[in-house]
Amino acid sequence: MLLEVRDLHVHYQKVAALKGISLQVPSGGIVTIIGANGAGKSTTLRAISGLVRPSKGEIHFDGQRIDNLPPEQIVGRGIAHVPEGRRVFPDLSVEENLRIGAFLRADKDGIESDLEDVFRRFPRLKERRTQRARTLSGGEQQMVAIGRALMSGPKLLLLDEPSMGLSPVVVQEIARIVADIADTGVPVILVEGNRHRRLGGQGRRPAHQ
Ligand code: ATP
Repeated sequence: MLLEVRDLHVHYQKVAALKGISLQVPSGGIVTIIGANGAGKSTTLRAISGLVRPSKGEIHFDGQRIDNLPPEQIVGRGIAHVPEGRRVFPDLSVEENLRIGAFLRADKDGIESDLEDVFRRFPRLKERRTQRARTLSGGEQQMVAIGRALMSGPKLLLLDEPSMGLSPVVVQEIARIVADIADTGVPVILVEGNRHRRLGGQGRRPAHQ
């Protein structure tokens, strides 16, 4: 298994947000986590990427325990997290946003070829590479957020509700892109709420586990 989460508990002060989640992610494909608002989906992703500390349980990635590492080391080991709400840098250009994803990397040639790869996946971002992120549509901002995550050269991509607030056509487009990312060798953990249109219900269906 690429990722194993065992009996994960997370508390925010005294509130128990997660009470014993376990999951396994193989080294290919898409694993989808679906649940109601407040069920703890975002907290699960935050714990995997080191943004919150588990109060109990273990997370193993690529054969090593990571639940005691700071977020930047977890990114360095190959986990990229696209948070809910996208969080692009509004006053930076598309290209600057994308390059920020590579901030831990020193391999200049690799960065340039990954940037070209992101522009190949998202031709619309190439057309808008000098445009400020704040002027993009919601779907385009989601593409920037996913592209920025890909720029870290991940072995695993965490996507938190990427279809939130997007039109059906754009949701379908993002679903195709996510399926393509998984097909080209980067497994994905996809989190979706159960109140709105989901990637899993559109176009190609991710493999549920
Ligand atoms: P949503 O779809 O609404 O984002 P979710 O399944 O992703 O829901 P989480 O955001 O992980 O759920 O929240 C799980 C629980 O933890 C909820 O009860 C929430 O109120 C609580 N919680 C989340 N973040 C915090 C925080 N920073 N401080 C205190 N409680 C929090």
